[in-house]
Amino acid sequence: MKAAVLASPQPIEKQPLIITDLPIPAPNSQEVLLKVRACGACRTDLHIVEGDLQAKVPKIIPGHQIVGEIVDGASQELPLGSRVGVSWIGGVDGTCPYCRTGNENLCDQPTFTGYSVNGGYAEYAVARRDFVYPIPEGMDDLHAAPLLCAGIIGFRSLRVAGVQQGEKVGLFGFGSSAHLVVPVLRFWGCSIYVLTRGESHRALAAELEVDWVGNEKERPPVQLDRAITFAPSGDVVVAALASLRKGGVVAINAIHLDRIPEFDYDTLLWGERQIRSVANMTRKDAGDFLALAGNVNLHPRVTIFPLDRANDALAALKVDLIDGSAVVVP
Ligand SMILES: [Zn+2]
Ligand SMILES: [Zn+2]
Repeated sequence: MKAAVLASPQPIEKQPLIITDLPIPAPNSQEVLLKVRACGACRTDLHIVEGDLQAKVPKIIPGHQIVGEIVDGASQELPLGSRVGVSWIGGVDGTCPYCRTGNENLCDQPTFTGYSVNGGYAEYAVARRDFVYPIPEGMDDLHAAPLLCAGIIGFRSLRVAGVQQGEKVGLFGFGSSAHLVVPVLRFWGCSIYVLTRGESHRALAAELEVDWVGNEKERPPVQLDRAITFAPSGDVVVAALASLRKGGVVAINAIHLDRIPEFDYDTLLWGERQIRSVANMTRKDAGDFLALAGNVNLHPRVTIFPLDRANDALAALKVDLIDGSAVVVP
């Protein structure tokens, strides 16, 4: 099979993913073999490929927003030909204190798709049978792929931020994940304030009819109840904090930040404001979000890259050239 393989992390401009031929992987008794139909590109892939996240294995096929068709390892619940999704959490141990208390997103021994095991930048991939999600009918492959990490973790960010119906919610940064939470927030009757550096990202936010759009140096015209930051920048976290009412929450939807600058406790954090990180996802988040996605007419904006151009997909993400989501198609 054709696959994009990372052997040595480097800046994406150096094209670190090598397109090569590998044997089709063989599933074990707990796994399914998928023929990959589409795989969303995520900023986390970029962090892996560039080495911001330390390598877990010597060689890896990235990609953790896989839509595939089961071609081996079928079961009664998941017959041959079923269309399923695979996300960032490819498995957990089920026995650690976090797993035992319903917090499998914090598992001590997690499997990360496309990071600790091979992912979906390939023609075939294996996945644990208990960590695949049936794709709702009527949702095509290309539009389902970005939901599998950007969508699910965006949804989890809303939960971590504690968003309630009708609240004022700020989205700081407006990439794949942010544009996917807009329909959810609207469904909940929230007003949406978007702050982002990229002009074309502001245009997309305006097109999606959010309540207010500004650049990264502006402040929303109201105090926010909740803010979600999507950029890998600590400056953005502080800007979000400065926009919150007392008791408000900033949820950081980023696996890696450059650094958090020093900030003034008395004016920015006092008043029971909170900063929380958003780590991974649970299977419940995935199930709840995919069910909701079918109801709220979630239709990601996608840009398609053939597998041969996986490096270009990540390079475009790096410089904010993608409006919405990038999807790699083998
Ligand atoms: Zn665990
Ligand atoms: Zn991701």
